[in-house]
Amino acid sequence: MTELTAQRDLAARDYDALVRRGLKLDLTRGKPSPHQLDLSARMTALPSTHLAADGTDCRNYGNLQGLAEIRELFADLLQVPAAQLLAGGNSSLAMMHDTIVFSLLSVLPGAARRWADEQEIVFLCPVPGYDRHFALCERFGITMVQVPMTAEGPDMDVVERLVADDPRVKGIWCVPKYSNPSGVTYGDETVRRLAAMTTAAPDFRIFWDNAYAIHHLTDEHAELADLLALCAEYGNADRAFVFGSTSKVTLAGSGVAFFGGSPANVAWYLGNLSKQSIGPDKMNQLRHVEFLRDAEGVAAHMRRHAELVWPKFEAVDRILTKELGGTGLAGWTAPSGGYFISLDVPEGCAKEVVAKAKAAGIALTPAGATHPYGDDPADRTIRIAPTYPDLEELEEAITGLTVCVRLVATEKLLSQG
Ligand code: PMP
Repeated sequence: MTELTAQRDLAARDYDALVRRGLKLDLTRGKPSPHQLDLSARMTALPSTHLAADGTDCRNYGNLQGLAEIRELFADLLQVPAAQLLAGGNSSLAMMHDTIVFSLLSVLPGAARRWADEQEIVFLCPVPGYDRHFALCERFGITMVQVPMTAEGPDMDVVERLVADDPRVKGIWCVPKYSNPSGVTYGDETVRRLAAMTTAAPDFRIFWDNAYAIHHLTDEHAELADLLALCAEYGNADRAFVFGSTSKVTLAGSGVAFFGGSPANVAWYLGNLSKQSIGPDKMNQLRHVEFLRDAEGVAAHMRRHAELVWPKFEAVDRILTKELGGTGLAGWTAPSGGYFISLDVPEGCAKEVVAKAKAAGIALTPAGATHPYGDDPADRTIRIAPTYPDLEELEEAITGLTVCVRLVATEKLLSQG
């Protein structure tokens, strides 16, 4: 019996034992755990006043751009001047959705016409990436073109070529810090090239979804270059749309979301928004300002998150290393921030691994979700979301996952002869 056959047989036995345990574990989505939400428990009793710093009665209509004090608090954190930052409702994803709808239905600064009047709109999608970005494109008939991610962000040689040649290319999705799902933070040169590159479309936009801007898990904080400032410096001031939110800072369902951009982009967004709303939930914005107070308050709060989340990331890395390290059957990321770990299995195995895990009661994000149209051409990448389960459950789920990887990968190798 060959070494590989022995490995497969052992994995098959381990898998049978795993199935017999009848687990019911869920690693599908990047949600904060109840303990993380408890860190913000005090918020339910806030705000203690309904008056903003300038005397605004936050209970009433108005102030479409959002409270000045919450915009000032998040301006530095999101690298957008407070005057160019808009504080809205509870979801940055909703703002991304609206930004696309607004771009389809009203002429963007610098655009010749509305996107709805173009023959075709194309977005570049660095992969692996965030499935909800891709779902938005699908929803609105935007063609997606994959761009490979590197350790420094999207492969800029590919991006520069595609945007220079083709005026249909109107946008790119970027999660620039502790990216979903690879954990990569874009290098300075990547950000500079994004700001400086020549685009065939005059209304090209970078959708800069900085969802994990402050979600450090260690004392080593990744630094991100200031895209908005660089765009202005290179004469492309209107190129960047910046998004962020406190969903994974305070309460995932009751946070505050932000939109930032050039003065022209912010005026354009507010013009559209004024037809949709008379003003955001300012009581919630005030609640956030009272709770988080200042930059130091935010940093201290994020350290408490890290204390809860980091042991989970460490556990995943420890178990993957113990069970799969040196086998050549898998590779994975070890991010120092964000919410995800990206696991790569041998080509053609990811779907089968996820299916086997499901049959053993371990729910994972569907294979392919990290790619446009849910199709990972190499069928290789699996997103691991370690934050929600408690540590014991997580360890059980990851150990089970490694059994599935060993089984599927050794079977694949054997079938290839
Ligand atoms: N962007 C990214 C990259 C995310 O991972 C998530 C949450 N999974 C969101 C946006 C959602 O943000 P929000 O809660 O502000 O809608």
